[in-house]
Amino acid sequence: MAILLSEVVREKTTKKRTFLGLLLTALLFLCGAAFYLLIFVRYPYAFFSRSIVMGLTISTLLLTLLFLCGLLAIVLSILRKRTFPPLRWIMGKTLLFLYPIVLLIGRLTHITQEKIQRSFIEVNNQLVRSRGVKVKSGELLLLLPHCLQNDSCSYKITHNIDNCRRCGRCQIAQILELSSARGVPTVVVTGGTLARRAVKNYSPRTVVAVACERDLSSGVLDSFPLPVFGVLNERPEGPCHNTRVDLRALQEALDLLLV
Ligand code: SF4
Repeated sequence: MAILLSEVVREKTTKKRTFLGLLLTALLFLCGAAFYLLIFVRYPYAFFSRSIVMGLTISTLLLTLLFLCGLLAIVLSILRKRTFPPLRWIMGKTLLFLYPIVLLIGRLTHITQEKIQRSFIEVNNQLVRSRGVKVKSGELLLLLPHCLQNDSCSYKITHNIDNCRRCGRCQIAQILELSSARGVPTVVVTGGTLARRAVKNYSPRTVVAVACERDLSSGVLDSFPLPVFGVLNERPEGPCHNTRVDLRALQEALDLLLV
């Protein structure tokens, strides 16, 4: 049992390390760009005027410094399991700005997007945990993807999840039991646009979202600074089709955020 637990802990650490390592690489890349510009500004036949290049160099160096502080704040928050409110903005901006560079470096180094996105979700969830967010049930929103519904079910649950007859052919029935027992508003969405609309309509203080790696990571970044706890779906029949979710993980996510 102890061996199994240590394996789980190691696996989670490795997952976070992938994204954090790539974040650091992105910072070094920015640093390299700043030094390249510094060399370029000394070149006597530079096409651009020296002041423009100097401005660019200083901006890149300042951004690098800012994101370095953001990365340190992220690592410290994960290690100490608490965040400092004044540093949240800088952590969010670091993730938002460096995320595309991280994906690009991942592509160049043959690390799959899915692995990076999983690692990002793990980092994000740890940051949400370390914020110690606790809300009443009405201030939490549970967002579910449409692909959790059995594909032969004819009930339209995207308009109103209560249209589900709880027949048990898919997990929507069990998820409804979990969320209604806690009084958490629950919405099934077919994509990012509807998810954003649901967040706008309900104005929650925090969100638990179930989705695949790609949708979760873009949803987390789109919703910044709203804290979104991500629960990855399972795809035994392939993507976007009769997907499933670990109900225990979902229950833990809801209980983590509720007072
Ligand atoms: S549990 Fe609900 S959503 Fe799932 S198949 Fe039955 S009626 Fe449809």
